[in-house]
Amino acid sequence: MLSLDSHPSGRHFLQIPGPSPVPDRILRAISLPTIDHRGPEFGVLGKAVLAGLQQVFQTRHPVVIYPASGTGAWEAALANVLSPGDAVLMVETGHFATLWQKMALRLGLEPEFLTLPGTCEQTGLPWAWRRGVSAALIGQRLHEDREHRIKAVCVVHNETSTGVTSDIAAVRKAIDAAGHPALLMVDTISGLASAEYRHDEWGVDVAISGSQKGLMLPPGISFNALSPKALEASRSAKLPKSFWAWDEIVEMNRSGYWPYTPNTNLLYGLHESLEMLLGQGLPAVFARHQRWAAGVRSAVEAWGLPIQCADPALYSPVLTGVITPPGVDADALRQLIHQRFDLSLGTGLGRVKGRMFRIGHLGDSNDLSLLATLAGVEMGLKLAGIEIADSGVTAAMAYFSSNPAPRPEPTAAA
Ligand code: PLP
Repeated sequence: MLSLDSHPSGRHFLQIPGPSPVPDRILRAISLPTIDHRGPEFGVLGKAVLAGLQQVFQTRHPVVIYPASGTGAWEAALANVLSPGDAVLMVETGHFATLWQKMALRLGLEPEFLTLPGTCEQTGLPWAWRRGVSAALIGQRLHEDREHRIKAVCVVHNETSTGVTSDIAAVRKAIDAAGHPALLMVDTISGLASAEYRHDEWGVDVAISGSQKGLMLPPGISFNALSPKALEASRSAKLPKSFWAWDEIVEMNRSGYWPYTPNTNLLYGLHESLEMLLGQGLPAVFARHQRWAAGVRSAVEAWGLPIQCADPALYSPVLTGVITPPGVDADALRQLIHQRFDLSLGTGLGRVKGRMFRIGHLGDSNDLSLLATLAGVEMGLKLAGIEIADSGVTAAMAYFSSNPAPRPEPTAAA
């Protein structure tokens, strides 16, 4: 049993790349009394959040909300448009791409997993886990597929296990240049509402996202954004589905309701989140994350530790993967930092376990909370006896103070 004083004083620093720190405004909205999900008030809420989500995905087409984590929305995406034995082209960019590929196998699909060969000599990490998807490689594979056996190309927009983004517009171009009819499916679970994502303009057929990252909500709801081509494919797709099936949900969503009990209180939170994000404007939201990411990277560079993303054009605005020196157990370092400073950092997952840690810079953060995070990491590095070149905190202070965040225009009082 917990003793009454077991909770440390002050706020815990939740600097993992999701779940992200939830703003108090959103927590308060979630705490409102639960209402009748078939009553008149609910339909108004349902319609408002569905319309707001379309703006965040930058789509005119339906968005589906599930009371499930992101993994559920992954399964929904595959199950709605594919049939047993369908070939799908997936790309190894990290742990989440790997889990999605395993799911495809378990569902009876035939995933082909494209991967960049080799390991980086300096760090010993696989190159595939330090770079984004190669649109050229996808294009080449599709060119070879003359019989159009491949039914979908599945890529992760922001690989949360590595801190590397992928150029989704380039993948769409490659599919079109190959004259291939495959659907484009994109996991933007940790990209949405932090990294720029344009569903319609980029020609994505199914996008998958979740609540606990850029939307700044607790975990528990997830999304599929659709295209007309995906909806068409769902009419003849044969993988078994019932709970995940889009048809009944999309139909009932027209009036703001669901065929089952939706997650009422998280939808209150979503409404609040959409007000915050759309009130600021998406360009300001993306710029904020880019600026935080640049500040954090300036610290990592000053420490002299390698950033996991090996391609500066693909740096994630959501998180930064930091590679520890050979022989240093990154998880032991994380544990030390957690114990001493009540700061949670993301663990290394899958093929990079123990070799790196992740700093999340999303959710309810600001310059000072990020500087405190970096101070916690820096103290931890020193306590663990890891040599650093310079003070990352000093570098990040210099970055944040010489690159002020644009101030929002004050709105006139009513
Ligand atoms: N895909 C990505 C890119 C993720 O970051 C995550 C979770 O962090 C998932 C999929 C799985 O989502 P969930 O853990 O919400 O089921």
